[in-house]
Amino acid sequence: MQQIKNYINGQLLDSVSGKKLENCNPATGEVYSFLPDSNEKDVEIAVQSALQAFPAWSVAGIEKRSNILLKIADLIEQNLEKFALAETNDNGKPLWLSRKVDIPRASSNFRFYATAILHHSTETHYLENNALNYTLRSPIGVAGCISPWNLPLYLFTWKIAPALATGNCVVAKPSEITPMTAFLLSEICIEAGLPAGVLNIVHGLGHKVGAAISGHPQIPVISFTGGTSTGAQIASVAAPMFKKMSLELGGKNPNILFSDCNFEAALNTTVQSSFANQGQICLCGSRIFVERPLYEKFKNAFVQKVSEMQVGDPLLEESKLAAVVSKQHMEKVLSYIELAKQEGGNVLCGGRQASVAGRCEKGWFIKPTVIEGLPFNCRTNQEEIFGPVVTIMPFDTEEEVLMYANSTKYGLAATLWTNNLTRAHRMAEKLHSGIVWINCWLLRDLRTPFGGVKNSGVGREGGFEALEFFTEPKNVCIKL
Ligand code: NAD
Repeated sequence: MQQIKNYINGQLLDSVSGKKLENCNPATGEVYSFLPDSNEKDVEIAVQSALQAFPAWSVAGIEKRSNILLKIADLIEQNLEKFALAETNDNGKPLWLSRKVDIPRASSNFRFYATAILHHSTETHYLENNALNYTLRSPIGVAGCISPWNLPLYLFTWKIAPALATGNCVVAKPSEITPMTAFLLSEICIEAGLPAGVLNIVHGLGHKVGAAISGHPQIPVISFTGGTSTGAQIASVAAPMFKKMSLELGGKNPNILFSDCNFEAALNTTVQSSFANQGQICLCGSRIFVERPLYEKFKNAFVQKVSEMQVGDPLLEESKLAAVVSKQHMEKVLSYIELAKQEGGNVLCGGRQASVAGRCEKGWFIKPTVIEGLPFNCRTNQEEIFGPVVTIMPFDTEEEVLMYANSTKYGLAATLWTNNLTRAHRMAEKLHSGIVWINCWLLRDLRTPFGGVKNSGVGREGGFEALEFFTEPKNVCIKL
């Protein structure tokens, strides 16, 4: 049985208490490894190691930091197969997806920030004949990075890379549900020559390790991705301590199709945007709104395609969907399907657990599910389900669909399908959302600001925004 270890002060360690947690493979339902059940004592040692490493790392120079991060990116790339298989065994997602998206993106995150710091500059403000102001940007100290299970290494490295690149040291916690690739990353950091204590990875439960990170007085900056209620708990601890915070939270994203859209492109991409990663991407569109003249045609074609999607063993190339992340999560998603029925929804396809024969017969699989006939304001259409479940409904006017789209407490991403450029601009401006995709979905440019409005989060990740988040600006004014 594989043993996952904490990575503290450059060493791979068990938890101080010696306690362990079981780690399951969602596709088989079997425990296949153990991870440290760490607590505030492990976090304390990690914070002290990070504090010790900080003076040297923060002045190591951008070239040195860049080179080490590039080495980490290279090593992830060289170990693509090992990482992809580990991600799939840990999370349940199809292997082809880990190979194509999760692991390459983790490597890109390091590469992107390793090179971004070489090109980052700060502002100067010249007051005619009077004064010159320039902005110094310094690393803050020890950053706390906490990430979720849906895109485990992808989101973990999305935080760690900019924090390290800007000269901070890090105490990080991956999700206890998907700890494996973070552990493999520790091994790679050692191989890449990352100095001891610069990155510390503490495994364990949110209410122990995550809470100890958020409340630690020597961690002044927290970057969190996860659920909205967890974000609120973290903020309630961190805000009175005046910590700098970036919170990337839940979503309930609208996907809006107008009759003038490119039908095939909208259809094919909507299948993906609804069910990629079993619908467990914060950016998935879970509410599909179709302009009435297109509604029946689109609905029929969509349901047909979704019904044909194969749910199966994540190791098989033909499995379009594989396991959801845990039994508990599967039960939550299925309970939402029951709720939708109680609310008057008509299940057009899916609607139940999928059974997969052979080695996966005890795994946690759900058929991709499409539901119609629900009002925009019912719980199914307002709450985040975070699984392979979408609702579909018609609309008549722009004003009406904007009202539907903006009606939830969330505001992460919206997708719009139309060939009317004026309408696209008009709608993009009016959607309450941090990200709007027009005639595409998940087309990512790492330079762009990433994040949500309302209960979907506070702050932005991505591009230079993250470099600014992980540094403290100081204005220096010189009298001329
Ligand atoms: P979660 O909030 O349960 O857990 C996220 C992380 O927080 C885990 O590492 C967990 O251990 C930790 N945690 C739990 N309780 C904590 C506490 N009291 N203090 C500190 N840390 C704590 O979320 P999840 O179930 O792992 O992930 C799914 C959620 O993440 C969904 O809501 C999804 O929308 C959201 N998400 C958002 C984005 C985004 O960019 N906005 C991206 C991916 C996922």
